[in-house]
Amino acid sequence: NEVYKVNQWGLGYFAINESGNVCVRPSADSEHKVDLKKLVDELRQRKINVPVLIRFMDILRDRIAQISTAFKNAIVENEYQGQYYPLFPIKVNQERDVVSSMLEYGKEFGLGLEAGSKAELLIVLALTLDPDTPIVCNGYKDREFVQLVGMAHKMGKKIFPVIENYDELETFIAHYKETGIMPRLGMRIKLSTKGVGKWAKTGGDASKFGLRIPEVLKAVERLREENLLDSLNLLHFHIGSQITKIKVVKQAIVETLRVFAEIVRLGAKLEYLDIGGGLGVDYDGSSQETYSTINYTLQEYASDIVYRIQQICQEKQIAVPNIFSESGRFLAAHYSMLITNVPTVSSIGPCGLEFPHPDKGYGPVKEMYDLLEGLTPANSQESFHDAVQYRSEALSLFNLGYLTLPERAYMEELYWRIMRKVYEQAQIQGLLSPEMEDLEQELSDTYFANFSLFQSLPDSWAIDQIFPIIPIHRLNEEPDRIATVVDLTCDSDGVIDDYIGEDGPRHCVPLHSVHNGNNYYIGIFMIGAYQETLGELHNLFGDTHAVQIRIQGENQYKIESLIKGDTIHQVLTYVSFNRKELLHKMREQIEQAVDERKLKLDESAQMMDLYEEGLYGYTYFEE
Ligand code: PLP
Repeated sequence: NEVYKVNQWGLGYFAINESGNVCVRPSADSEHKVDLKKLVDELRQRKINVPVLIRFMDILRDRIAQISTAFKNAIVENEYQGQYYPLFPIKVNQERDVVSSMLEYGKEFGLGLEAGSKAELLIVLALTLDPDTPIVCNGYKDREFVQLVGMAHKMGKKIFPVIENYDELETFIAHYKETGIMPRLGMRIKLSTKGVGKWAKTGGDASKFGLRIPEVLKAVERLREENLLDSLNLLHFHIGSQITKIKVVKQAIVETLRVFAEIVRLGAKLEYLDIGGGLGVDYDGSSQETYSTINYTLQEYASDIVYRIQQICQEKQIAVPNIFSESGRFLAAHYSMLITNVPTVSSIGPCGLEFPHPDKGYGPVKEMYDLLEGLTPANSQESFHDAVQYRSEALSLFNLGYLTLPERAYMEELYWRIMRKVYEQAQIQGLLSPEMEDLEQELSDTYFANFSLFQSLPDSWAIDQIFPIIPIHRLNEEPDRIATVVDLTCDSDGVIDDYIGEDGPRHCVPLHSVHNGNNYYIGIFMIGAYQETLGELHNLFGDTHAVQIRIQGENQYKIESLIKGDTIHQVLTYVSFNRKELLHKMREQIEQAVDERKLKLDESAQMMDLYEEGLYGYTYFEE
C-alpha cells in the first residue's frame, strides 16, 4: 500500500486483503468486499480473458449518495431554502447501463441528466420517464435541437436548454414566434475566473462557450423586448474539469452570484444555478500540488458553495436558487477499471555474449571499461557524465567506420552496467536529480501489457493524465522491478509516461518480476470518466470485454451483464472491410500458392482455417 497508495486514492472502494490481492467494496463502510484476482480467475474460467473492463455498479450508487449527502449537510447547516440536484453529464460516459443506473440510483436524490449534443439529447429524452427529472442541454443547438427541446417542454419534461452563444437565443425566439413554445431557458456565462490545471482553458474570457457579460445584458434586454424574460430560469457556468484548488471554486461562485443577483435585479426569474462540473478526484493519492489530486474534500466543496450562494443572496435580499451540479468525473471515475496481463517483458541487462579483452579495443571502449572498474560511490556522479561522453565518442567512431559491431556492443554493455551502478548509488545517497529520474526510466524494464492505450486510456496519451496502475495480486511481496508499461500498438506513443510516485508523479512504476507474464495481472483504475467512450481504434484494437458486477456479499457478486469485446471481423467492418470479400481474396491467393507448389493441400487448409479463425478472434493477445 505504501508503494501504490491504494488507501489514499482508493477512498475505501479499493484495498489490499490478507492474500495480497486488491479487493473492491461497494462503499467505504461496507462489510463486503470482492477479491479482484479471484474475480478475474473466475472470469477466465468463463472464457472471458483479459483485457477486460470491470464495472462495479454499486460504486456509482455510492458516488451519487456521497455528493447528495454532502450538499444536503451543507443545506441543513446553512438553513438554505433551496434544493440540490446532482446532474450526470452523459458525455462523461454514455454507456447505456451507466446512464440507466445513474437514473435508477439517483431517483431518490432527484438526479437529472445533462446532454451536450443532439445524439446525447436523444438518449436523455428517451430515458427520462419521470417528468420531474431535470434535463439540462448544453452544447451547440441547431433548429432541430431547438424543436426537440420545445416539444419535450410541451410534453411536460423539466428541460432547460442553455444558451451557449448569443445566436442561439435568436433561434429560440424565432421558434417561439412560429410555434408559441418557449421552454425554460438557461444561460451560460463566461467568467473571468479561470480554472486550474489541464482543463483551465474551459474558463476565462477566452473560453469556447458562454456569453460574455455585455452579451448577457443584451440577451436580458432582448428577452424583455419580446416579453419573454420570465423564461430565463437558470444561470450556468463551467470553468473546467478536475479543479484542483478550492480557491478557484470559491472565486467562480462569488463572480457568478454577483451576475445572478444583477440579472434578478433586472427582472428575470432565475430559480436555478447550475455550477457545472469540475469537482475533482484524487488520482494519485499524493499530498503534492499536482493536477491529479485536489486540495479540498467533497464536504468542503459543497459547504463553500452553499455558504457563498446564501451569503450573497442574503446581502442582495433575493431568493436563493436551487443548485444543479454536473459533476461527471466525481460520479463516474471510480466505478470501472481495466484488468490486463503482461505477455512480454524486456529489460536492459547483460546479453550473455563473450567480448574480447578491452586492452585491444579502441579508446572509448577501453576507457568505458576502466570507468566501470574504477567506479566508487564517491565518483559515481562524475563517472555518469564521463560515460555519457565516452558513449557519444564511441558512436561517432562507429559511424565513421572505426569501431566494429562487437566493439560497439561491448561498449554499450559496459555503458549500461555503469548506468545501473550510478543509479543504485544515487538511490542509496538519495540523490534523485532530474537526470537520475530520466536514467531510472531508461533503465526500467519494459512491461508490454495486453491493451491499447488509445482505446482504453486515451487521456494518458492525449494529456498525460495519471491513472493508478497496480498489480491486483502479489501485493504482500515487495515489488522488485522498476517498469515502464507500454501497450500493444505499434505506436511509440503507446507508453504510459506518468505514474503515482511516493512524492508526486514519477516516470516508472515498481512491479514484480514475472516468469509468465500471462498470469501477472495489473489493474488500471479510475477509468470510468471519459475513458470508456473517448477511446479509438488505433491499430484496430477494438473494445475490450466488459463485465458489469454487483456486489452481494463477502466475495459474492452477480454478473449483471457480460459484453464480449470486438472481434477482428467487427473492427474490420468499421473501416469498410467485408468478411466474405476478404475470405474470397485470401482463398484465391492460397489456391495460387497451391498451383505454384508453395503450399501443400493440407497447408492451404491450415492457412485458410487460421485466417478465418483470426477473423472471429479477439483483437488483443490471446493465450
Ligand atoms: N458540464 C460541462 C458543460 C462540461 O463541459 C463538462 C466537462 O468538462 C462537465 C460538466 C463535466 O465536468 P467534470 O467531469 O469535471 O465534472
